[in-house]
Amino acid sequence: MIRVRFAPSPTGYLHIGSARTALFNWVYARHYGGSFLLRIEDTDMARSEQRFLGEILTDLKWLGIDWDEEPVHQSKRFDVYRKAAEDLLKAGKAYREGEACIFKVEKGRAIEVDDMIHGKIAFNTDDIKDQVMIKSDGSPTYNFSCVIDDAFLKITHIIRGDDHVSNTPKQILFYEALGLMPPKFGHMPLIMGQDGAKLSKRHGGVSVEEYKRDGFLPGALVNYLLLLGWSPGGDREIIPLEEAVRIFDMKGMTGVQAKFDIQKLRWMNGEYIMAKQGAELLPLIKQQMAGMGKPVPQDGLLLKVIDLYKMRVKTLAEFVQLTDHFFGDDYSVEEKGREKYLRPSESKEVLRDFASRLEKMDGLSAAAAEEACRKLAEDKGLKAGQVIHPTRMAISGKTSGAGLFEMMEALGKEKVLERMRKASA
Ligand code: GLU
Repeated sequence: MIRVRFAPSPTGYLHIGSARTALFNWVYARHYGGSFLLRIEDTDMARSEQRFLGEILTDLKWLGIDWDEEPVHQSKRFDVYRKAAEDLLKAGKAYREGEACIFKVEKGRAIEVDDMIHGKIAFNTDDIKDQVMIKSDGSPTYNFSCVIDDAFLKITHIIRGDDHVSNTPKQILFYEALGLMPPKFGHMPLIMGQDGAKLSKRHGGVSVEEYKRDGFLPGALVNYLLLLGWSPGGDREIIPLEEAVRIFDMKGMTGVQAKFDIQKLRWMNGEYIMAKQGAELLPLIKQQMAGMGKPVPQDGLLLKVIDLYKMRVKTLAEFVQLTDHFFGDDYSVEEKGREKYLRPSESKEVLRDFASRLEKMDGLSAAAAEEACRKLAEDKGLKAGQVIHPTRMAISGKTSGAGLFEMMEALGKEKVLERMRKASA
């Protein structure tokens, strides 16, 4: 029976790299029908915070990662770690230094790890100092409590970041000393920025929370994270989580550096948005609007606008920004576009003329607006663009967006005329 775990330290938000670690452990467990556990590594009482734990659990659930059994909190197990340290002291494998308890590392030994991702990695204990197990404040070190708990939870496989490769031989020494069987280890290369530097804000954001706030869909983020470290074979890129669970194979995990590409993630998010029905996007977009402090419009209008824009945006935040002109008069205006398309007096004249032709019509359908636009251009000897660009600018404040005539229909005759007149004045 496969048992894996994700072991976050609640000292900050869920990092995108940690989310990937959690995801691979989860996919591995679900693929084999094993268990995926959570262990909260909150031994650093000063830096661990309840709110961070709450955020981490919320973000995991948001990503679609659920866990089995009650999470184990290391802060509640100090007695267990101290007892294990006492046993090693009694066995002569450790010594005290003040209040601290230190493990003696036997020199000159080779330790080989058969890593599931990197293959064989060789270490020598000459490079490993004696290891603190219990610090003088009574708290355990990460390596010690990690081993005790992985054994206690009967973990069979540990998948984690390369930043822990150097910890693995130390942990193996503890397993030996405690008479425990080590699990299998697999270390994933860390996620780097495109420039090869450590992932930071300028590469697009480091926490799951930031992506959630910007309107990335969990499915898209999860799909993208899966590709950062795993190749499903072929050149397929859109792989929903359920499918990943079905086809997952450890052999597809790569040992080469993963480079975070925000543009690719944006592309993928656009694909996921496009694939959703309007009704599915509706609550997500309402939530996004509320989160961005925008008034939430009526479902009917919002659904129409979703249909017009879902294939044109990469994030939900972008949707909200790009469509603000449908839901109120306080929308953003592209200054350059205004200069170019609304400033010239010919534009003002065109807008005035177009508006009076529209006014005479019954209602305002996209087809009728298009027809009127074509007719106006013909009568005046203009190109269609000379009518379309100023009109789009006048009614939306933007130089791009959905088809102008569909936009006019969705906005409604009254608003369209009001804005065209205002722009032409
Ligand atoms: N708390 C450690 C971390 O977040 C866990 C490492 C491990 O998986 O062993 O890096």
